[in-house]
Amino acid sequence: MHIDKSKSFFKRAQELIPGGVNSPVRACKSVGCDPLFVKKAFGTKIIDVDNNEFIDFVCSWGPMILGHNHPKIVAAIEQALVNGTSYGAPTPLEIELAEMVINAFPAMDKVRFVSSGTEATMSAIRLARGYTGKKVVIKFDGCYHGHADSFLVQAGSGVITLGIPGSPGVPDDIVKNTISIPYNDFETLEKTLADDSLEIACVIIEAVAGNMGVVPPAEGFLQKLRELTTQHNIVLIFDEVITGFRLALGGAQSRFGIAPDMTCLGKIIGGGLPVGAYGGNKEIMSQIAPEGPVYQAGTLSGNPLAMAAGVATLQALSEPGFYDRLETKAEAFAAELQKLADKYLPGETTLNRVGSMMTTFFNGGPVVDFKSAMKSDTERYGQFFREMLQSGIWLAPSQFEAAFISDAHSPEDLAQALEMTESSFKKIKK
Ligand SMILES: *Cc1c(COP(=O)(O)O)cnc(C)c1O
Repeated sequence: MHIDKSKSFFKRAQELIPGGVNSPVRACKSVGCDPLFVKKAFGTKIIDVDNNEFIDFVCSWGPMILGHNHPKIVAAIEQALVNGTSYGAPTPLEIELAEMVINAFPAMDKVRFVSSGTEATMSAIRLARGYTGKKVVIKFDGCYHGHADSFLVQAGSGVITLGIPGSPGVPDDIVKNTISIPYNDFETLEKTLADDSLEIACVIIEAVAGNMGVVPPAEGFLQKLRELTTQHNIVLIFDEVITGFRLALGGAQSRFGIAPDMTCLGKIIGGGLPVGAYGGNKEIMSQIAPEGPVYQAGTLSGNPLAMAAGVATLQALSEPGFYDRLETKAEAFAAELQKLADKYLPGETTLNRVGSMMTTFFNGGPVVDFKSAMKSDTERYGQFFREMLQSGIWLAPSQFEAAFISDAHSPEDLAQALEMTESSFKKIKK
């Protein structure tokens, strides 16, 4: 594979942009390569600047559930574009998207749009603190909620991949108000939430974790969390930035039948443009400015191009049978993947899947939390990643991320991915 152009772009980028990338997860350090620079993408295909073609399982880290450059999304953006790109004043498109989001998430009475998942989670905890008058935020080890100061404690995603324990630049004064506890650990959860001296404002959780690789909630864990937060008057926030509109139209909360007090969204709701959102019941949401005193604002919030892309995306996802079709496809693919793992690497991998998100951990498993995820052999994942990339399969450049199946993945794409997985597994067999 020739990657000369990518190499030269990377060299220039490193002189101008820290690490040559605008988000650390794009660096391929942990898998022992340099990032490829992309020229274009359509459907499931990504074409790099050297004209290599790949079948994409990263899907822009989640948003591209319809595949890249989907004609309906492109048309919606084009239609919005001719009227201008930003007004700093409300538009009917914001109402349209808000209505669609609220209809899909019955636990939400009102929603506020922002421009990224980070903004959504950051604003949600400010609101939870403002609403309760308490300070402490409980999160779970290995969950990632964007890069706001309060969340960079035992965080997942690029923070694990690069082995950064927390982050310099985050004052202890802020971190001391965040308590991170193990995912799926009922006992610690119960003990922590029962401690009134902690003054807990909220608990934030990825209802299905996707940022330490995919880790599903243990049977009954979310129910327990809902019970305890209600009992102790703590705001429960589901960070559904990945899982919202991914696991079902109504996200993980509809899949597991749990109504959180607040929900954070991002990724899919922007159809590939920068959008985030947070919402909840009327009482909590009425505390946000200008209705209430908790401040949160955004120059480009509710941007018309992003709203148009979001509306078109949610319309496509609302078509009957969409999620059943995606589920069936992902389930069949994962079953084949499991067969290959059992044949070539018996006892050496663990495949976790919920809906169309999955991770193959190079780890005998079970993988149920951050600690067990961290037992994975990242060297081996790197080897696997490089073999797959050489064979034209674009995976996340980290063991601790999800692979996503989109509506665009064809039987041919998936068959090819399995074939390449088989040959890669054979090569990395011990
Ligand atoms: C990606 C992600 C975020 C942050 O969203 P950005 O748009 O990258 O700021 C927050 N929470 C979860 C669960 C995510 O996966």
